[in-house]
Amino acid sequence: MDREERERAMSPETALAELAAGNRRFTEGHPTFGLQSAHRVELASAQYPFAVVLGCSDSRVPVETLFDRPAGDLFVIRVAGNFIDDYGLATLEYGVAVLGARLVFVLGHSSCGALTAAVEFLERGERAPGMIQHLVDRLTPVARATRRDEGWVEAAVDENVRATVAEILDTSAIVADAVTQKKLKVVGGTYDLATGRVTTIEG
Ligand SMILES: [Zn+2]
Repeated sequence: MDREERERAMSPETALAELAAGNRRFTEGHPTFGLQSAHRVELASAQYPFAVVLGCSDSRVPVETLFDRPAGDLFVIRVAGNFIDDYGLATLEYGVAVLGARLVFVLGHSSCGALTAAVEFLERGERAPGMIQHLVDRLTPVARATRRDEGWVEAAVDENVRATVAEILDTSAIVADAVTQKKLKVVGGTYDLATGRVTTIEG
């Protein structure tokens, strides 16, 4: 398969349905995940991932595993708090413009430590050591915007996904053009650590 064959074979809607189906296999306990050696040899010459996933670094959110996809399918960016910066956006644009991905999926998750740190910084004002405070500062606005007594962290997780989707669409002309041409969808969702289920967040 080359890039054009991949694009013909998969619409943005199909790409999203593939991720949903993979997450269903994962949560139902019968994943097909795995990299066969024939597949590995095929991939050695080129990659045609169908989706870019922007996820959190959290060790409990292994992107390929929870979507039940083998190597070669997902172009993955991971950073604590799954936000976008210039390098992340450049990586994402590479996945879309050069590799031909049909979907960008921003994946937050329950009990995210990065957003918990932002919430706790607003509550207590204690600074994190070293560069970690930069992460906290980056996520503080979304935490401030979702302040509430109950469920603050989960609200911040959802809002961070929404804000990141909007930021990608606002910042990247490559992404915006591909969306206009119906070659690409940008979607957000959250992963529940306990159930393993990914729930799509509507804009
Ligand atoms: Zn996290």
